Amino acid sequence: MTTASPRRTFAIISHPDAGKTTLTEKLLLKGGAIHLAGEVKARGQARRARSDWMKIEQQRGISVTSSVMTFERQGITFNLLDTPGHEDFSEDTYRTLTAVDSAIMVIDAARGIEAQTRKLFEVCRLRSVPIITFINKVDREGLSPFALLDEIADKLALDVSPRMWPIGMGGTYEGLHRIGDATAALPTAVQEEVELAQVGYPDFDVEAYQHGDLTPVFFGSALREYGVDDLIDAIATHAPPPHALPAEPAPVEPEHPEVTGFVFKVQANMDPNHRDRIAFMRLVSGTFRRGMKLTPTGHGKPIAIHSPILFFAQQRELADEAYPGDIIGIPNHGTLRVGDTLSERADVRFTGLPNFAPEILRRVALKDPTKTKQLRKALDDMAEEGVTQVFYPEIGSNWIIGVVGQLQLDVLLSRLDAEYKVAAGLEPSPYDTARWISASDPAKLKAFVDLNKGAMAKDRDGNPVFLAKSAWEVGYVADRYPDVTFAATRER
Ligand code: GDP
Repeated sequence: MTTASPRRTFAIISHPDAGKTTLTEKLLLKGGAIHLAGEVKARGQARRARSDWMKIEQQRGISVTSSVMTFERQGITFNLLDTPGHEDFSEDTYRTLTAVDSAIMVIDAARGIEAQTRKLFEVCRLRSVPIITFINKVDREGLSPFALLDEIADKLALDVSPRMWPIGMGGTYEGLHRIGDATAALPTAVQEEVELAQVGYPDFDVEAYQHGDLTPVFFGSALREYGVDDLIDAIATHAPPPHALPAEPAPVEPEHPEVTGFVFKVQANMDPNHRDRIAFMRLVSGTFRRGMKLTPTGHGKPIAIHSPILFFAQQRELADEAYPGDIIGIPNHGTLRVGDTLSERADVRFTGLPNFAPEILRRVALKDPTKTKQLRKALDDMAEEGVTQVFYPEIGSNWIIGVVGQLQLDVLLSRLDAEYKVAAGLEPSPYDTARWISASDPAKLKAFVDLNKGAMAKDRDGNPVFLAKSAWEVGYVADRYPDVTFAATRER
């Protein structure tokens, strides 16, 4: 048994400008860990822990402070994982969502559900991540609460259960009403709204929420701190603590005595002269102690983790230990990969960390043909970090890279140049999307591969991938080959 305080490990999903940064700052301020303008100003006892990781950051040139933010309130430790990629998406963003137990979905009251909110929501749904909705900016004119609730329900096919109700919005805003409280003191119009809402939407059901079927909805303003306390209380009270994770040979419960965890993100050094990386591991079970040896399942020897980066806001005495739900940053030289399981005895392997079908495919054109080896190394490295995916076609020698967002292409080119000294360009690819293929009957898979050789490739791990010109083509081909499965995500 550990003596750890309860954990709530969560992320915020939103469309740019909905207010994620503002809300994050307010959550941290309220929890006593003050991060402002990207700067961490830890207080009191946290100073030592803070200076530890600041030093590591300086030495290694890796910015990790904002990747994991921890704050405490009412005896609960909150781990807030940043979902990077502000204007754009990367697999990092998606994969971070595999390391949380719940999410807050922030929606701009004037804009409703936007494109990126929806994409991130779909990733949460894939893993049944429970979601609390925060409708932000009620200090401004917005859509009606009913329109917002109905939009969430319709566009996301999710039950909505309002928990708070705005008493007016913008110029008429007068406060928030907790659903269930007496409505007598409310203005008549608001009283009617609340009564309508109470009959029109399902009651809050904690099980439906924790299964990802229902979202409790809060209204407020991150900027003016309206409703932020209620939101924190909701996470504290209802959001699930660290849970069991699917693994082979059997799921791993947080109570499992040995330390296990998985790498969900690898961050490379921003200083090209250093080859170090930080692997972010989510602890699934056990009590991690500094200096402990962990073994990556399937490859490699035990690694003694002497200088982990632990993310703690306040409690110095905990700075040498971490508990299920916590994130540990492990410095390494490229041995650790996204999706790796680490454990004390190397006898488990977590399943279900997905690779996502790329939405942009490009052909890599090497300017200096003598650099093939370096290019392959660079592409493999970056595939390993989750910056890009790489596909090696069965026919021809033009390697294809796939990304989920445009920004990743720029990162790829600048790193090829700066770190690997490889001058390369990107050309349009005849393909637009990719699917991992499998079949229960190996003969059927082989028949498909043989007939479609021109569109077949292998990913970095040697898995067969079908490259298609459009999502429509995927559908068309999938219809003709009912025995072959075309997956838009691949579990590692
Ligand atoms: P992010 O892109 O989701 O991280 O959004 P930010 O937190 O950076 O906010 C985007 C803009 O909206 C900024 O100008 C914020 O000051 C503003 N903003 C955030 N929350 C609120 C709010 O509750 N009310 C109003 N009026 N503006 C807000």
